[in-house]
Amino acid sequence: MSRLSNKVAIITGGANGIGKSTAEKFMAEGAAVAIWDVAEEQGQHLAKASQEKGFQCQFFKTDTSSPESVQQSTEAVIDTFGKIDILINNAGITRDASMKKMSMHQWQQVIDVNLTGVFNCVKAVFPHMAEQKSGRIINAASVVALYGNFGQTNYVAAKAGVIGMTKTWAREFGRKGITVNAIAPGFIATDMVGTVPQEVLDGMVNRTPMGRLGQPEDIANGYVFLASDEAAFITGTTLSIDGGLVF
Ligand code: NAD
Repeated sequence: MSRLSNKVAIITGGANGIGKSTAEKFMAEGAAVAIWDVAEEQGQHLAKASQEKGFQCQFFKTDTSSPESVQQSTEAVIDTFGKIDILINNAGITRDASMKKMSMHQWQQVIDVNLTGVFNCVKAVFPHMAEQKSGRIINAASVVALYGNFGQTNYVAAKAGVIGMTKTWAREFGRKGITVNAIAPGFIATDMVGTVPQEVLDGMVNRTPMGRLGQPEDIANGYVFLASDEAAFITGTTLSIDGGLVF
């Protein structure tokens, strides 16, 4: 029995990296998947390739930092699939610089996508979940929200905010049958860490008890678990998936 049969899932940032791997796992577990991303070419490609394999997958070009774009895509998902059971707030960006060099623009870009983007998606999707009295919301935080990181004032602020919103929404939405959790990935081999110097990555691997970088599938497995019926009584938590980097 597939763990996500008959479920409809929105995966933001689903065209690449962790989001793409999550979309593929969700489909393999029986879910219909709506990919929300700004990366149109990759998103369309994933949807087409998935449909050819017989899966239910649609791409909706969505900028999660825009409330209008998110509202439009929410309505399009309801029109296409009839309901929304799972929201994975996975879209994220980095604009790293030390505090001395970080511009207001770099600060604002990351806050707009990584923090306000999560707010926008929950704002638009929550009413549909509340109406059906069930739902799963899972937010991408980061290990750096738990310990800080050189050159990431904007990113760490946003991810720590996501953990705070996760706990708040767990309290607000529990009686509506909606669980809200976060995942804090360690360093995962995707395009996002492509800009991190090799010696920094080597240092991370040395400090990680499991002795390797994470793979997108490591995080996707966590998303599947938290979205499944097995996690029905888990809410307000942040699950670290980091090979033991922080505990
Ligand atoms: P990635 O860069 O490979 O993919 C991110 C996706 O988000 C891309 O497809 C991109 O187009 C999309 N995106 C960016 N801005 C968007 C917007 N405004 N609206 C919609 N989509 C948008 O990144 P990843 O490594 O797969 O990261 C996924 C999530 O995991 C992010 O939230 C990231 O912060 C978090 N995370 C990643 C790592 C890591 O080491 N890779 C570690 C901790 C947390």
